[in-house]
Amino acid sequence: MRDLSTLELIALGRSASAHRRLLRRTPFFSRDEMLAWQFTRMRALITHAFERIPFYRSLYQRVGFQPGDVKSWDDFAKLPVITRDDVVANYPDSIVDQRIPKDQLLVTFTGGSSGKVLEVAYDLRAYSLFVAAAGRLLSMAFNYLPWHRQLYVAVSQYPVQSVPWMYPLYFVYALAPIPQVIEALRRVKPHLLVCFPSTLREVAQQMSDEEIAELPLKAISVNSEMSSQRERDEWQQRFSCPVLDDYASEELTHLAAQCIHRTYHLFEDINYIEIVDDNGRSTTGAGTVTGTNLHNTAMPLIRYRQGDVATIQNGDCACGWRFRRLVDWQGRRNDSFVMPSGRVLSSGYLLTATEEFARHGGLRAFCLIQESTSSICLKVVPSDSWTTQIEERIVAQFQEFFEPQVRFRIEKVAECERTKAGKRNPIISRVSRQPQG
Ligand SMILES: [Zn+2]
Repeated sequence: MRDLSTLELIALGRSASAHRRLLRRTPFFSRDEMLAWQFTRMRALITHAFERIPFYRSLYQRVGFQPGDVKSWDDFAKLPVITRDDVVANYPDSIVDQRIPKDQLLVTFTGGSSGKVLEVAYDLRAYSLFVAAAGRLLSMAFNYLPWHRQLYVAVSQYPVQSVPWMYPLYFVYALAPIPQVIEALRRVKPHLLVCFPSTLREVAQQMSDEEIAELPLKAISVNSEMSSQRERDEWQQRFSCPVLDDYASEELTHLAAQCIHRTYHLFEDINYIEIVDDNGRSTTGAGTVTGTNLHNTAMPLIRYRQGDVATIQNGDCACGWRFRRLVDWQGRRNDSFVMPSGRVLSSGYLLTATEEFARHGGLRAFCLIQESTSSICLKVVPSDSWTTQIEERIVAQFQEFFEPQVRFRIEKVAECERTKAGKRNPIISRVSRQPQG
């Protein structure tokens, strides 16, 4: 994403305090208050999309729908679900509000396993709210004060740098060798570390206990790649601070994040999130996370199928927030494995199982790849303690775990591969699926 101009930064700063006030109140709305608040925004968004965005106008006209038809959430749930392919095919002319001059848009992109790049354009007003929401997210872990130092390990810097003398921000390129990240930790002595789980995994392996004890860390926020709760609990022990997962996407921005009680709270003031079945119908059980971003009018995403599998639950949390919770988050549907019998193993389940095999040592990093329905490869970066016995044990365990027709092998590599966006996904499926939705 491009850097913001001085004028844009001033505008952003002006709207930020109003956004912050709003974002402090919304987590405590009752369910009814929240639904009413979301409904007003959803209706305005649909009217805007119908009038200004050719993609939605033709999509909704095809199903005989007029904006005035949405009188309830049940009506809303009848609208078609849209997919990543729809967005890619219609970007930018048919899905971006053409009244906004291009140089005023903030554009981000995401690679994805399909290889097709998806671009997402935000307007500045919506973006300033997302920035305020990012600040709130980091405050979920600890009382984030203006003098706290943040070390941000990522593939690109935040487009908004820290305000002079407040919330000092230090950036390290995520593709830099791990010793450079460790060097930055020693130099910056951050209170907050934001990074990929794969970065934290290697930092935890390569830093000594004494070095870690010298860091004043109050919280670590991990994002973008899958990590299991058990692994985060281990890191929490090792770094003596909460390690919390943040669930976001370029398309819908902030979806959910963990509070210190490990609950994934949906950000209901950013998106209206539904769980839908394969026919695009809202369901109360497990299904695909589908979201409507309530703020981005430059490129509205309405009933957008995000692709991860999860369930939504009501219920109180000890933190006091009333946003609903995301539970049984099983990772991306596209990265689940399909066995020859048709049985599906979710990516979250595969990650937990692989960690179980890997926890006896010998591995510095791993990546489990389904190459075809009948072939699965575990790429490993072996540590000094790697032995043939470990290899044989892992092969035997995995062969029992997958169906008998599946050929399983281990490949030793110097480094696990990354996506174009710099992520290291531990579970990857290369088996093409019928498009969902
Ligand atoms: Zn909570």
